[in-house]
Amino acid sequence: MVRHDQHGTSNLHLLLGQTLTFTGDPFHTGPQDAVRHETQGAVAIDEGRIVAVGPADNLKTTYPDAPLTDHGEALLSPGFVDAHAHYPQTAIIASWGKRLIDWLGHYTFPEEARFADPAHAGTIARRYFDLTLAAGTTTAVSFATIHPESVDAYFNEARARGLRALAGKTCMDQNAPHALSDTAASAYDDSKRLLEKWHGIDRLGYVITPRFAPTSSREQLEALGALWAEHPEVLMQTHLSEQHEEIAWVAELFPEARDYTDVYDRFGLLGEGALMGHAIHLSPRERDRLKEAGASLVHCPTSNTFIGSGLFDMEGLAKAGHRIGLATDIGGGSSFSMLRTMAAAYEVAQLRGMALHPAQLWWLATAGSARALRLGQTIGTLAPGYEADIIAVDLASTPAIAQRSARAETLWEALFPTIMMGDDRAIAAVYVGGNRV
Ligand SMILES: [Zn+2]
Repeated sequence: MVRHDQHGTSNLHLLLGQTLTFTGDPFHTGPQDAVRHETQGAVAIDEGRIVAVGPADNLKTTYPDAPLTDHGEALLSPGFVDAHAHYPQTAIIASWGKRLIDWLGHYTFPEEARFADPAHAGTIARRYFDLTLAAGTTTAVSFATIHPESVDAYFNEARARGLRALAGKTCMDQNAPHALSDTAASAYDDSKRLLEKWHGIDRLGYVITPRFAPTSSREQLEALGALWAEHPEVLMQTHLSEQHEEIAWVAELFPEARDYTDVYDRFGLLGEGALMGHAIHLSPRERDRLKEAGASLVHCPTSNTFIGSGLFDMEGLAKAGHRIGLATDIGGGSSFSMLRTMAAAYEVAQLRGMALHPAQLWWLATAGSARALRLGQTIGTLAPGYEADIIAVDLASTPAIAQRSARAETLWEALFPTIMMGDDRAIAAVYVGGNRV
């Protein structure tokens, strides 16, 4: 077997392993009908894109001269897509003992204040991408801090690594420390300048980013709604209905709004391409409105249990046809790994009486999150035309997992122990735009 690690070559090459392709949404078609699985499969990659997926024998015949990288029995999957993270909180992950509002004041804001220093922002951006790539995440959507330098640091680092990555300057002009406050006007101006500087450069995407309703004035929300109306091609991200205390605070701050969702709606911050982090405690009216508007709901299960926020209604929201993504919410979330995040999603759903199928979990972490980001035709699926962000997953990465997967008779039985117990040791290889990193 010839092994060729690829470094910037544009030659077609083949990866061999088990392959898993979602052909549909396993919440709607049923898990078994939504996937194509090859135990001896191959993926052909050229110029950073997938050109073919199928049985290894077929692809070897079609491309007889192509160099091969054989990943054995590892599962070739799209890289994970983390639909909500705060890269500036990398260094405060697993901080003890607070609920949301105290957690922000005690841990988050002092750390975020350090991002006025571009050197610190650069150091943490590098560390963040080192950790997330090791965990198999090839696309993340991040909040930065209020500092434009923090956005530059993230995008510079992502660009140097050839990643598809999204982020935006976090905007806050009330209920935040002075050092972390902008204004309605500066939030608009800085966001617009950063959007024009970065959006569409290589594989980078800008995201308009009000942190959440409590830290933005009406004027700021209005300004960011106006910016989004001028640039509907970008995403908008924020937080929605994470904790009861937060919801009560929003009701106090915006008494004119019908509910939390309505605050965003009033300022043009609800629609397709809106990423609503958490979305746990929603009224029936909010669910209907979010669905009608086509917003994406982003489930952050390790964060929701870590900060004690509540149990996302995966079953009800998926059944109702909401667009749902899955995310770590670093550093309120307690793991950089989307495997650990899938496990937490499974546990949260169990506490609500639903057993998520491994196909549903894997779909949420790949194609589902990509769809939530309006990138469902670009990343997150192992199929021709998609960008070649691919991971090889070792389904026997620890003795405990190996003894369990050895008994498996189906792909799902083999995969589920890795979902529940796997970590970065399960990520045997990562390809970004077709290049192994
Ligand atoms: Zn968050």
